[in-house]
Parts: sequence; structure tokens; C-alpha cells
Amino acid sequence: MTDLTELTVAELRDGIRAGDFTAVEAAEAFNANVAAADALNAFIVKTPEIALKAAALVDADRAAGKDLGVMGGVPIGMKDLFATRGVQTTAASHILEGFTPEYESTVSHNLWSAGATMLGKLNLDQFAMGSSNETSYFGNVTSPWRKAGGGNEAMSPGGSSGGSSTAVAARLAPAATGTDTGGSIRQPAAFAGICGIKPTYGRCSRWGVVAFASSLDQAGPMARTVRDCAIMLGAMAGFDPKDSTSLDEPVPDWEAALNADLKGKRVGIAREYRMDGMDAEIEASWEQGKQMLRDAGAEIVDVSLPHTKYALPGYYIIAPAEASSNLARYDGVRYGLRDLPEGAGLQDMYAATRAAGFGDEVKRRVLIGTYVLSAGFYDAYYTQAQKVRALVARDFERAWEHCDLILAPTTPSASFPLGSKDDDPIGMYLNDVFAVPASLAGLPAMSVPVDVNADGLPLGLQIIGKPLDEQAVLDAGLALEQRAGFTARAEKWW
Ligand code: GLN
Repeated sequence: MTDLTELTVAELRDGIRAGDFTAVEAAEAFNANVAAADALNAFIVKTPEIALKAAALVDADRAAGKDLGVMGGVPIGMKDLFATRGVQTTAASHILEGFTPEYESTVSHNLWSAGATMLGKLNLDQFAMGSSNETSYFGNVTSPWRKAGGGNEAMSPGGSSGGSSTAVAARLAPAATGTDTGGSIRQPAAFAGICGIKPTYGRCSRWGVVAFASSLDQAGPMARTVRDCAIMLGAMAGFDPKDSTSLDEPVPDWEAALNADLKGKRVGIAREYRMDGMDAEIEASWEQGKQMLRDAGAEIVDVSLPHTKYALPGYYIIAPAEASSNLARYDGVRYGLRDLPEGAGLQDMYAATRAAGFGDEVKRRVLIGTYVLSAGFYDAYYTQAQKVRALVARDFERAWEHCDLILAPTTPSASFPLGSKDDDPIGMYLNDVFAVPASLAGLPAMSVPVDVNADGLPLGLQIIGKPLDEQAVLDAGLALEQRAGFTARAEKWW
């Protein structure tokens, strides 16, 4: 029998529907890969029995002639930022250790309703703050990728959705959920040689997703192919009255409409994304991408996004500001950890719990956030950053007068060794330089693997689209995928 863990979401779904194999067989195959991959540390909690139980229900539905849903019987990994009823949900933080929600996030609920089954909760950067998956309380995730001929150096899977990128690249799951506040789907997808799409802000409900920066947080799928992303995004998205920023828009059948013919599409190249000292390999892959889209029928046009250089500093004010407010709820009373020193009062308990429960990066963000929101500095920082955000969004609105999509690198470099940016938080923040403009503007954006660098590590390209035009983003992604023919994969060492 074929190794089911080599199949895509589409192939698994179709095979289960056709009766070529059962959902239980698929769950068993992935459970086995998960169990054998502890060296990657991709999972915080494994739920093999939940996957099997749900799969048995899918198989029973099939036997009864029922509709199996668009992800019927497909096992997936769930980023541990989504609340899952009865299964520990930690956001990779000590402060939430032992927290078992009584409720299910809307996105995960939607996925289970579409027939998907859960392999476990995936590791991530603590509260999704990070770009390397090194801020998790539960330890680093190690990328399955290693430099070709570069010894055994452990590489970063990217972050914050590093457990998701690793699980998919290492065939522990055919797909996984991610969340993207300032690049956390796209950057890890690029590092791991897989696809990932952040939809338009408001497409996927934030209800039941541990909040980082609420005006930016968006869930999306990570998978090996563009088609799989289209399928899974369709299952995740949809209006949710429980999220006040949810968009009341119909969810198109993105998979059915996939079309790699880009005739009539104009693809913008933003001159401000061409940065001084840019990695030559990234620049070369960007050039290749342009040619691929041209070959697919698109017209390439130059556009300008003049406020690009302010986007990253703006993001690193707005995101921590919102985080400092969102994270005020972790006080030792309501969730997870409580540190109550002998004879201590309420204030002491708050302080002790937060000191013990939050990691260093989380504390850094809370400090930055409270600082930029403080009475004396609010106008100097937070108000300015909000203006920057409006200008960045306006740049895109103007660009859309000249193009339908924008092609850019996803990241300024390929993956780097774990530990190599420990003393360089700004260098770490720079990872997001190409990702955050689309986040600030709430636009759909996708990363697709196109090549490997001289070290044999994946490189991704990013496609940014107009609001609600995920279809155009996916179509251009498909055109890149077909022409790039990316087949490189991490050699198994774990
Ligand atoms: N790396 C960025 C940060 O640390 C983005 C994280 C994210 O998108 N969740 O803020």
C-alpha cells in the first residue's frame, strides 16, 4: 500500500471518499510518524486517540452514505493557540500550562465540521511572539531541514507557527493551522519549503484563538500544496457573530475556481522591497518568480509602496501595545498557572504569577506595549504608529490602481541556525520586514516555495492580494508552484 503520509490533503480526502483506504488508516499512518518524531519537538500535546476516534466516525459516515465534508477524514495538526475543548491549550506559555478549555475555537470547530481530525497541538513561539520558534516554554522546535553538507546544525523552522511548518514539512501531518499577526504563517512556510496563506483580516474568526494583537491576528492554513491551502482555508473561513471583526462575506469555493492562467493579471513589483544589502539568492528567486508569472500570462509592472520602511517599526509598536492589553487577563485568577507566595496579597499574586509564567520575549513585549501606551508617550509612539499603519494601507490602495497582485520575497533570508540570533532581537524582528506591510493593511498574502539556496535550504516567494481576493493570490500561487516545480524535501534524520 502507498505510504499515506506522502499524500496531500486533496489526495487523502479523495482516497477516503473513493474507499481506496480508510480515515482510520490515514490517522494511524500519521500518528505513527508523529510518535517517531520527538526529536523535532513539533507537538506540545499529541492526541492520537482523538484522531482515531474522529476517523472512525468518518468511516462510519462513509459506510452510511453520508457526505464526508471537504476535509473528510484528513488528519491535521492544530497550532496550540486555538482553544480545543478538553485538550490543553497553552500558547506555548507556562502561564497557561494545564489550561483545558471548556470551549472550541470557531476555526477548529469549522475544521472538525468539515471532517478533519486532530493529531495534536503544535508547538509555537510563546503567545505567537517570535520568528524562530525559540520562545516556547516547551522548548525549541527543530526544523527537519539541515544545511547540505553543513554538519548537524539545528535549524530554525521559523515562527511563530514553527510546529506547524515542521509537522507539514516532515510529513507528520498533511496540513496544519497557523496564525499570522506579522508573518507567522508565511515566514515559517518559507523556511520549511511549504505553502501558507494568511487570508484577508476578518475571513477567519478569532474567537477562541489566544489573542496576541487583535487588530492583526488572522488564522490560515499551512500545507504542502496551493490546492491544499485552498481546500483548508475554505473549511476554516466564514462569518462568525462571536468575533466582532469577522467579515460577513460568502466564502467562495477557492479550490473549484483555481486557475493558473494569469492572462489579464498585472503583478506589481514594489521598488521599496528591493532593500540595500539584500541577500543575492533571495533577489535571484524574486527574479525567477517574476519570469514564472510572466510565463503564466501576467504582466509585470513597477509599483511604489513608499511607506514600506516604516511598516516594521510601526508593527513593533502596535503589536506589543495590543499584546500588553490582551495579556493583562493572565493574572493567576482565571487561567492556568497561579503563583501565590506564602502570606501574599492579590497584587503579589498577580506579579508573582506573571513573573513566573511569562517568558522573556513576552515580558519584553508587555514592557514595550505599556510604555508606548503610557500617558507620556502615547502620542509619540502609538498615535504615530497608527498613522503609519494608515499610510501603509493607503500605499496598497494606490498600488491596486496599477496592479492586481504584488510579488515579493517572503523573508530576507533562508532559515538560520537555532540560537544564532539570541542576542539580536532587532535582527530577529527584521525577519518580518516583507511580511508586516500586508498584515498592517489586512491583506491576503501567501508564501509558496520556489527554490533552495546554495545550502539546500528552501526559499519562498510571497504574493499579496487585494482585500477578499484570496482567489487571485491562490491562482498566482498555483502558477508559481507549477512552474517552480519545487520537489526538494528534508532528508530524514529524526
Ligand atoms: N515574528 C512576528 C512577531 O514576533 C510575527 C509573529 C506572528 O505573526 N505571530 O511579532
